[in-house]
Amino acid sequence: MRIGLYPGTFDPLTLGHLDIVRRAAGLVDKLVIGVAINNTKSPMFSLKERIQMIDEEISLIEKETGTQILTHPFEKLLIDCAKDVKANVIIRGLRAVSDFEYEYQMVGMNRVLSDTIETVFLMADSNYQSIASKLVKEIARLGGYTGEFVPNSVQKRLMTLSQFKK
Ligand code: ADP
Repeated sequence: MRIGLYPGTFDPLTLGHLDIVRRAAGLVDKLVIGVAINNTKSPMFSLKERIQMIDEEISLIEKETGTQILTHPFEKLLIDCAKDVKANVIIRGLRAVSDFEYEYQMVGMNRVLSDTIETVFLMADSNYQSIASKLVKEIARLGGYTGEFVPNSVQKRLMTLSQFKK
C-alpha cells in the first residue's frame, strides 16, 4: 500500500493546495495531509480551524479519486511524522524557482535523517500556480476579494475575519 504524506501549514488552504491534493491522490492508495502546528509562523488560523477547512474539502476529492484522504496534525520533524503515518513518499508542491532552493535543501537534509522515504514534487495547474497562502492573507487583511484563490468554505472564514478586523 502506497501512503503519501503532504505536509504544510495550510494557513489557509488554497485552490493551489487542493489541486496538489487531487494530483497526489491519483498517485497513492492513502494520502495523509500533515498539518504543521507551526507556532513560529504565527498562523492566522488555529490548528483546529486549518484542519476543519481541509476536512470540509477533502471528502469530495476522496469520492472523485477513490483514495482515502485524512488530516494529521504534527509538531515534530517531518521525517518522524512520515514514519508515524507509515508514509513511503512525501509530496510537496512546487510553484516558482523560489520554492526550489528551500525544497532542495530540505530533501538533502531529510535524506541524511532517513534514506527510505522519497520526496515527490508536483506542479499545480497553471491557473493555480501563483496562489500562495501568504498573499491570500495579505489581500484579505487589506479588504480585497480572495474568492478566486480559495475554496468557498475558506472564503467565508476570511470574510468574517477581515470584517472583524475593520
Ligand atoms: P509550508 O509552510 O510547508 O510552505 P504551505 O501550506 O505554504 O506550507 O504549503 C504546503 C505545500 O504546498 C508546499 O509544498 C508548497 O510549495 C505547496 N503549495 C502551496 N501553494 C501551492 C500552489 N499554488 N501550487 C503548488 N504548490 C503549492
